[in-house]
Amino acid sequence: MLPRLDCIAAIATAPGRGGIGVVRVSGGNIALLISEILGKHLPPRCAIYSSILDSQKQTIDQGIAVFFPAPHSYTGEDVLELQGHGGTAILQIVLQRCLELGARVAQPGEFTQRAFLNGKLDLAQAESVADLIDATSSQAARSAMRSLQGDFSKAIQHLVNQLIHLRMLVEAMLDFPEEEIDSTDISQRDTQLAGLLEELKKILRLAQQGSLLREGAHIVLVGQPNVGKSSLLNQLSGEEIALVSEIPGTTRDVIRQAIQIEGIPFHIIDTAGLRESQDSIELMGIARTHSMLEKADAILVMLDARSHINEHDQKILDGLPQGIPRLFVFNKVDLTDQAPRIDESENEYHIYLSAKTGLGLELLRKRLLSLIGWHHEAGVYMARERHLQALQDAKAILETATGEMGRVELFAENLRMAQEKLSLITGEFTSDDLLGEIFSRFCIGK
Ligand code: GDP
Repeated sequence: MLPRLDCIAAIATAPGRGGIGVVRVSGGNIALLISEILGKHLPPRCAIYSSILDSQKQTIDQGIAVFFPAPHSYTGEDVLELQGHGGTAILQIVLQRCLELGARVAQPGEFTQRAFLNGKLDLAQAESVADLIDATSSQAARSAMRSLQGDFSKAIQHLVNQLIHLRMLVEAMLDFPEEEIDSTDISQRDTQLAGLLEELKKILRLAQQGSLLREGAHIVLVGQPNVGKSSLLNQLSGEEIALVSEIPGTTRDVIRQAIQIEGIPFHIIDTAGLRESQDSIELMGIARTHSMLEKADAILVMLDARSHINEHDQKILDGLPQGIPRLFVFNKVDLTDQAPRIDESENEYHIYLSAKTGLGLELLRKRLLSLIGWHHEAGVYMARERHLQALQDAKAILETATGEMGRVELFAENLRMAQEKLSLITGEFTSDDLLGEIFSRFCIGK
């Protein structure tokens, strides 16, 4: 039984003006708070039209109040939702009134953290709440919703159950001397382990795809002035403009555009902006270009389809870091007698297109998607880096275990470790530090 936590309150709707604004309150002695702020009692789970009152019983706002008694609420605690008018000042006044009545301001993600602590959601589901709110494409939103409904958790739980089953079989073997172990047990063990590994690999693959939906890819665009970098950026963003086109916290001295291709976010960085600033802050500019190039998932080298690689192009090519995939775009095909096309030789791709007319752009889009490893697959899981890590660790441990089958004790230990890794995903064994880290990234009021 968890201790009853104090009362928290927050504005749950986004800052700014809106038709409706919601203040949410959870935990503590809400019954008292309700009777003071509304001047009445609320029946459970009914939308009640009410005035929201200040300490002098004067009306602050009017709206709908809903009371969700524990445990049938988002947090699993008593929850009150006050749906009033959506204005910054009015919502602040309502929130202040809740604070006067004993609530404190909720930390980011604290409602969802309480939902997790009260067993309403597992950790992967709780994370998908934030992913759903942050999703910038319909594909990402759908995938986050599937995780929130528990599809990813169920897949992990299924793996864990199979592991437990296998562990029981192996632990039983520990009690017998090796020569007395039944051969059907051995073959059962081998089949179970092979099946488990197969399933784990499939989940990992779907999670890796989902992680692309979340994280997207960083592409750096290089090329001489006037080759058509800005035109390409405009063309790419014009047709499928991202729902969120600016990434918070990014500096404006770099031209950075968020676009989407089939719902995958691509952050395209045009180095032209940097070059222009090199006169004044030359060294910083060069250093930044390099650090961005090194971190890029791919470099798009833009050239003119009408000419061969010249010394200026060569200088740009020589300055590029090794080991990052490159894609060569030969622009302005409309000024030549060539048709748009893609040439591949020795894993190097040359795409001939026109950034101005859009001719051949589809080839580039397709190539960018396959470059980052995206393939249409149904049921991808909106995974985070920590999920991928846990899955990869579990896979590595199980692969080691395959080589340790002869040594039953070691084998059993490996299975135990793999189970622990997988359980990290759903939050069965999680440190407070990790929980703090995860929930602190949520928005206030969720
Ligand atoms: P940047 O300096 O590399 O960003 O190049 P811009 O995108 O500003 O393009 C320079 C000039 O080339 C502009 O006048 C564009 O209209 C023109 N341009 C860019 N792409 C093409 C293309 O595919 N075909 C033609 N005909 N002109 C282009």
